[in-house]
Amino acid sequence: MSMKSSYQSDATKAPGSKRVALRPGGAQRPARGPVRDVAALDRRLAAIDRLEDRLHEITNAIPGRVTFSTSLGLEDQAILHAIAASGAGIHVFTLDTGRHFPETLETLDESERRYGLNIRVVAPDADELEALVARDGINGFRLAVENRKACCEVRKVRPLKRALAGAQGWITGLRRSQSTERTETPFAERDQAHGLIKVNPIADWSLEQLEAYIAANNVPINPLHAKGFPSIGCRPCTRAIKAGEDLRAGRWWWENEDGKECGLHNRPNKKEAAA
Ligand code: SF4
Repeated sequence: MSMKSSYQSDATKAPGSKRVALRPGGAQRPARGPVRDVAALDRRLAAIDRLEDRLHEITNAIPGRVTFSTSLGLEDQAILHAIAASGAGIHVFTLDTGRHFPETLETLDESERRYGLNIRVVAPDADELEALVARDGINGFRLAVENRKACCEVRKVRPLKRALAGAQGWITGLRRSQSTERTETPFAERDQAHGLIKVNPIADWSLEQLEAYIAANNVPINPLHAKGFPSIGCRPCTRAIKAGEDLRAGRWWWENEDGKECGLHNRPNKKEAAA
């Protein structure tokens, strides 16, 4: 694995196989009351060093189903490994947009075999997708930002909503140093849009820390990372980055830098997040 050479160093430098069966619809923890103090959970997670321990803290604190959405990227592969290693009862799913790189699907297959788990694959609604392509064309997302957002809405955002329905906790691989839009990512926040607690257990990890964890645990990763793709999305919307570029510069590179998100991780205002 060689991922360091051409990537820009992170702005944030903060710290830091056994086979298990994790299936959607697996064992539920005893029902308890809703999480009242998300800020306290955020502080507790900040005080814990090991990722595996952070995951246990999350499942202890959040009653009901806790689910992890993986894009099979570097961050999410580290979390997947920690879920398997810790035995924390966390469901795992991924969004199959229909436009992934073949290498991403190979990484999905390899990860299931390595960790002995089934990752739920959530697809777009067929009718919505057909209507979108009929209206905008198969690659219509390049014609206008509105078209691109419509494509992400049908292929990602709506399937995500379906996958999160009924969950009380949502784990993501967001890191503060991934981009300027993510610099204020907390460990835990209330996600009003999905009606759950969103948790980002490696929010404070630097790229170097992430790479060290992956190397130390021999975590399977997408081979595209070694070819200049630190952030991997859909094939037609992702390119390799150049030395010194932002880690997410290869995503929707034809658009302005402001707001280059697909809608999966829109942030509420601070008042809502702290509520
Ligand atoms: S990343 Fe590109 S192809 Fe994928 S859902 Fe968004 S616009 Fe569509």
